[in-house]
Amino acid sequence: MVYIPVIGLEIHAELKTQTKMFCGCLVVDSTIAEANSSVCPVCLGLPGALPVVNKKAVELGLRAALALECTPLQYSIFARKNYFYPDLPKGYQISQYETPLAENGRLLIRTSEGEKTIRIRRVHLEEDTGKLTHINRDVDPCSLVDLNRAGVPLLEIVSEPDMHSVEEARAYAVTLHQLLRTIAVSSGDMEKGAIRFEANVSVMLAGAEELGTRTEIKNLNSFRSMERAIEFEIKRHIAILKSNSKVSQETVGWNESEEVTFSQRSKEEAHDYRYFPEPDLPPLVVDSIWLDSILQNIPELPAMKRMRYASEYHLQDAIIDILLEDPRMAFFFEKVVQHGEPAKEATNWITGVLASEVKIRGLDWDCLPIVPGYFADLITLVRRGDINLLTAKTVLSEMLDTGKQPKVIIEQKGLMQIEDGDVIATAVHSVLQGNPKEVANYLAGKETLAQWFFGQVMAKTGGQASPGVVKRELERQLFRLKNELSD
Ligand SMILES: [Zn+2]
Repeated sequence: MVYIPVIGLEIHAELKTQTKMFCGCLVVDSTIAEANSSVCPVCLGLPGALPVVNKKAVELGLRAALALECTPLQYSIFARKNYFYPDLPKGYQISQYETPLAENGRLLIRTSEGEKTIRIRRVHLEEDTGKLTHINRDVDPCSLVDLNRAGVPLLEIVSEPDMHSVEEARAYAVTLHQLLRTIAVSSGDMEKGAIRFEANVSVMLAGAEELGTRTEIKNLNSFRSMERAIEFEIKRHIAILKSNSKVSQETVGWNESEEVTFSQRSKEEAHDYRYFPEPDLPPLVVDSIWLDSILQNIPELPAMKRMRYASEYHLQDAIIDILLEDPRMAFFFEKVVQHGEPAKEATNWITGVLASEVKIRGLDWDCLPIVPGYFADLITLVRRGDINLLTAKTVLSEMLDTGKQPKVIIEQKGLMQIEDGDVIATAVHSVLQGNPKEVANYLAGKETLAQWFFGQVMAKTGGQASPGVVKRELERQLFRLKNELSD
């Protein structure tokens, strides 16, 4: 018997706004800001406080909806989703239910079996909850609540259950993440929880007409845990069906460390939430003029960018993937290429040395301390042989520290590559003279020592010697020693 997985994904993305969804409180980084420092009567849920819709959040939501080829609804309604939880001070969440912001879109994904379209059921706006921290679990249990995140605008994107493998689910999640970042709708910062997934999973027998019973996996915060959790549920469902039992419809959580799902509660139905239209907010009206202006301002989508990078710069798919992962890196790349650097060299440098410096130093691609023109200059200097790779790395580090032009750094620090044959010959000679034991071993047949001598000469010249010249000079002097030996 062949079982086919059926997977649908809900993605919650924090929108990139300055302020919260229904009040003027600033959206702050909860990992840095003092707890409960950005709150007001509205997001604290105090009696009598009235919500006001954040126009920017609606705009970003519509931008995402249009990029996903959804049809925005002219009127959409905010609704109260009632449930009690300590990080939800109002006792309900303002969301959208029967009439969402937009519906019926699609997203093209790429898998090892080719391209596939995943249908988007709906896109709607809502607000985030606060954050609970449970401490002293064993001794003196205590739960702390931070409401800085309460009321932060969220976009929920719900797919149809069109995915039939973990690979497809991943491709969908990655493509959507890329899209939301590229059109600047969400920071997409997974480490800070800006994007969260929920997966609906069921399995059905090949050829069956009815879908199997599904379970819903909550709060998946990374691509990896999403993949693992879906994989685990698929296997669990198949095992249950094979033993002639029934899968029960329920909500499950994901235990990251043990890599298993666990039952949280029997699946709630929509009526459990007693949805009703939010009486404090009028219907949201989206007119065509507003919609047109949003459509005009959508930046180039990743799919278009991919085609352009392939045709204009002749880049390989794997490199394009890396660049598209972070649209700000892609933007930097395009700026460097505009300064006349070959695309292939530029991508090597940007996705390699620069990307690792950015990561180590915790820098942001959109506010790097170096301008793209200076970075292009650095690549040119290496390409022309004015400095070698080793020196280039030192210069880059200094550029990131000071923002200076590479030429200025090279002049000030005297880092120009040493091409002078006499200087290099002297350095080679002194290394060979200073290491008689190694030289004897080399002459006795341990030829790999040539590489070691090379490293010594480079170190002696402060890494500035031209590697090509050093290599030739080293070969020449070692060859002479060998000849002297055989004479
Ligand atoms: Zn507030």
